[in-house]
Amino acid sequence: MAKKKWGQNFLISQKVVESIVQAADVKNGDSILEIGPGLGILTRALLDRNSQVTAIEIDPELCVKLRKRFSKEERFTLLEKDVMELAPEDLANLIPAPAKVVANLPYNIATPLILRMLPVRKAWQSLTLMIQYEVAERICATPESGKAYGPLSLVGELGFEKKIIKKIHPESFKPVPKVDSAVIRLLPRESGLPPEDEKRFLKWSHLLFQQRRKTLMNGIRQHFPEWYQNCGDSLRDEFGLRRPETLDFTEWMTLFSDYLQNEQNEIC
Ligand code: SAM
Repeated sequence: MAKKKWGQNFLISQKVVESIVQAADVKNGDSILEIGPGLGILTRALLDRNSQVTAIEIDPELCVKLRKRFSKEERFTLLEKDVMELAPEDLANLIPAPAKVVANLPYNIATPLILRMLPVRKAWQSLTLMIQYEVAERICATPESGKAYGPLSLVGELGFEKKIIKKIHPESFKPVPKVDSAVIRLLPRESGLPPEDEKRFLKWSHLLFQQRRKTLMNGIRQHFPEWYQNCGDSLRDEFGLRRPETLDFTEWMTLFSDYLQNEQNEIC
């Protein structure tokens, strides 16, 4: 029986499985990290492409089934673990680079897991993930996208080239989830910021995004009073009356470099 607490909505559509494997461009000899192999439907397709699969599964009962199902597969390694308990560096070092992450993720861990993977993203060539459609939209959103645009969109822009490959209907899973899903492909990229500044950027922009409909100056005054005091006229002219939800990623980065220049400012 599927366990809700672990987001067990198993894929039952072979067509969808094929579209994930195709989107990940899985080739002979590829090293794949699969998170949450479940009953192994996607694992089977990955192994059929002659890839080397390392899978992490939290559910001991499923692990028993997986070990049985793939007992003869030398290219399959199973780790019975909670992926969220692995330090990001350990996750990145699990399999040799260049590696690909391919997973139908449980809804409840998709966003925190992507955030954990962000600082070590260079370990992977690509991440092809099935996630909730609404989350995929938020990751890929721009200011033109309306309310989907927010802090998660900045995470997406900071770390990845990203694309929604396909919207997936709930009927492709058992049990049937209440929401649509999407296959999303993330290709890691450089942001130009050192890792510690990326972390600061995300915390900083998250704070300023909290009042998305108020002017930026309002948020700056509330969260960063010293920076507010030191803001030059040109910054006030350029951004003062803008609302957070209207700034594109390049503008966020411009604003952040001004913030960094005010070194005495500390994130509240
Ligand atoms: N890959 C399978 C499929 O497509 O049918 C199962 C996908 S199901 C949406 C998510 C899987 O992730 C389940 O097998 C679940 O037990 C596992 N899982 C949930 N939370 C996990 C965690 N924190 N660490 C590792 N596996 C987890």
